[in-house]
This record gives sequence, structure tokens and C-alpha cells, in this order.
Amino acid sequence: MTPIATDAATPSPLSPPEAFPSDPATAAAASSGSEVVDLTDAATTPATPADGGPANHPARPTPTAAPPPSDAVGRADDVRETVASQIHELLDEGIVVRDVFVGWVAAIEVAGCPARYRASGADGWGFPGWSPALAGATVGRAALVRHLDRTSSPMSDPTLPEPLEAVRDWFREAGRAPASSVAEWIAELMQDGDKATVAATAANATRWMAGFLRTVGWPLPERLAVVVDNPEGPFGRSWPKRWRLKGTPVSVGSSPDAIVGKVAPSGRFDLLVHRPSAPLDGALYHRAAFEAAAGALSNRIVAANVKVTTADTGDCARFPVTPDLLDQGVRLVVDVVRQRLVAADDADPDDATPSPACHWCPQLEDCHPGQAWLAGPHGRWRNGLPTLA
Ligand code: SF4
Repeated sequence: MTPIATDAATPSPLSPPEAFPSDPATAAAASSGSEVVDLTDAATTPATPADGGPANHPARPTPTAAPPPSDAVGRADDVRETVASQIHELLDEGIVVRDVFVGWVAAIEVAGCPARYRASGADGWGFPGWSPALAGATVGRAALVRHLDRTSSPMSDPTLPEPLEAVRDWFREAGRAPASSVAEWIAELMQDGDKATVAATAANATRWMAGFLRTVGWPLPERLAVVVDNPEGPFGRSWPKRWRLKGTPVSVGSSPDAIVGKVAPSGRFDLLVHRPSAPLDGALYHRAAFEAAAGALSNRIVAANVKVTTADTGDCARFPVTPDLLDQGVRLVVDVVRQRLVAADDADPDDATPSPACHWCPQLEDCHPGQAWLAGPHGRWRNGLPTLA
């Protein structure tokens, strides 16, 4: 497994956490394997108005710029060619499938238990669709960008958002003059009087923003831009939603929450994924590998690192985008297509893979390996605690 740097220390609320040191020496220690992560490392610099960088980001000390990763565009082309040829090879077997969307949820599901993924059917294959968590994150990002853009100017840095107030302001504006698809959705909910969904989405968005600020730190890292649908100022940016393989029903979606750095062959950037709660280590690694490969597919350039922040623990795990990580990401993408073909062929290979996920698996009633695993010594444990009889 690709080495990652993590820091379990919980930073003080809304101050630059120890996990993101601005000292270049500390950043160098991180790259040599010590237990730190730096969101302000050289990957995020330089930022000058001349090269298109925002002039008004809150500044931190600027470490020495690192060179761009070698041939980031060529490596992305290699990823596209490899994924395309492997998927064409699978589809050439003649099994017909429709609308194969490969997102991070599908990739992690297949890596965890192929049998459960196949059995989840059309609803599961399309997940997450428009889930409460996704809505909360989308609104949280939009509200954060709105606040940062509105409170900054060429002469001054943005102010630290108060998450509940920032989300409230965004909701008021969405109700009056929706300026994005998620704002239109909220406006419709308000018009329909669906107060419960509006309140739940506001709560999730507030939680998302608070967790994001707490783990990323304040001031924000140089050249951090949050991914939104309709960026207008320097703190938001769009990101290609899907890569479609021409002539096939396959599309792949990458979904970072923020980009740190300059997305260009001459630049260097990291993909940042924020999660309100921490998954298991394996899922964390798979998410990073998937985003590395899917991001290369959709944006035609390879990131330097994928960083995954988790709000409940305050951790940031950094995964350098190495050839091994990209290979793993390609495998995850292709495996989803393979499992859709297996499902379409009505094949039922004996590949149920028990894990703690069996506890809440909808297939458990019919799955003997899962039942046997839960009845054994491993099954006693749930969320790190023994279950009570
Ligand atoms: S119960 Fe466990 S092993 Fe069986 S399908 Fe579900 S996750 Fe896989």
C-alpha cells in the first residue's frame, strides 16, 4: 500500500492545525515519512496574480516551489489509454450493459464485496444519486465560496466564516434568486413548504463547512479553490464531472471537494477530498486511488497528491500520486465495469467478501459467507466495540 502521512492530532478549532505546518522544514520531514501532513506545502505555490493565481488569498509563508510532477499530461494520457483498452476488451465479449456510471461509491463497493455490489441492482449502481450527504456537501461548498468571495477584495482577505450564518445567508439568497442548480433545488423545496428537507440540508451543510474549515485550517492554504457548479470569484472553481468513453455506455466521475495549486502542465496541484466522518483505512486508500485515476481521466492531467481530510478525527491523509496509486485507481474503475458485465450475464461467482460491512448489508439474509463471518470471532466486533449478546 502506498505510504501515507497522517496526523491524528486534533487541531484547535479554526486555527492552523499542527497537521498543516507552514514551515518548509516540517514539510520536508513529512516527505521523509514523519507523521505530518502539509496542505500548504510547495504543491500549493507559487501564487501570483501574474500567473492567474488569486491575489487576495490569505497568505501563509511561501515555501520553496516544488517542480511540477514530471509529465503530468503524458501520465494522464497513459491512464486514459489503459482504461479505454481494458474496458473495450471487456465489452468486446459481447455482453450488453447500459449506463455504466463509475463513481467512487461504486469503486469502493466493488473493492469491498463484488457480490454485494452486483446484488444492489439499478438503485445501488446509481448511488449516491442525490443523497442527503451529497446535498449537504454541495450546499456547504457553495455557501463557503459565497462567503469567501463576498468578504474579500483586492485589498483585504476574506473573513473567517461562521458556518451557521454563512449557510443561512446562502439559503436566503437561494430562496430569492437561485444562481445554481443546487440553489434552484432549495428554492423549489422552500416554495413547496418542505421545511424538514430544508432544515436537514442546512444542518448537513453547516456540519460540512465547520469540519472542512477545522481540518484544512485558517487562513486557508494558498491557491485553495473549492469545487462548485458556478464559480464567480477566486475561491471557487469548476471541475469536469464525468469522462465518457466514446462508443460505450461507460462514464467515470471524479468528485474532489477542492483543488490546491495550479492545474496546468507547468503547475502542480493536489486534489482534496473532505469527509465528515472517517472511513476504514482500506476505503480511504481506495478513495484516493480512485480520485487520482478518475481525476486524470476527466481533467487530462495527473495531480501531485490526493489528500483526504476527515472532520470527526481531524486527520488528513496524503497519498502521493505514484504509478502504483494510479494502477490501483485504474483497477478500481475497470473492476466496476467488469462487475456490471458479470451482473448482466446473470453469472454468480463465489466472491462474497465478508467484512464489518456485513453488519448492515441488505444481502445478509441470503449470504452464507457473511452469516458465517458474523457468527465467528470477527463478527463480535462492530465499530471497534464488541457487540453485546
Ligand atoms: S453479507 Fe457480507 S459477504 Fe455477504 S454480500 Fe453482504 S457484504 Fe458481502
